[in-house]
Amino acid sequence: MMSDTATMPVVQPVPIPVDALLLWAVFAGLMLILAVYFVGAEQGATSLISGMYVHEFVHDGRHLLGFPCH
Ligand SMILES: [Zn+2]
Repeated sequence: MMSDTATMPVVQPVPIPVDALLLWAVFAGLMLILAVYFVGAEQGATSLISGMYVHEFVHDGRHLLGFPCH
């Protein structure tokens, strides 16, 4: 008969030093700010890229997130 008290290996989380996370956190923050800019403000007078391609590409996201559009 098999025992009910089988031992399971205990997995311990590996600590990640803050130094290693800081650069990735800054990078992720910049990407987030860039994404918010393109979704929320890349149109009209604040447009950095001429044409309507970027505007149309993020258009549904703009309406979904409630940014003013048209
Ligand atoms: Zn719109």
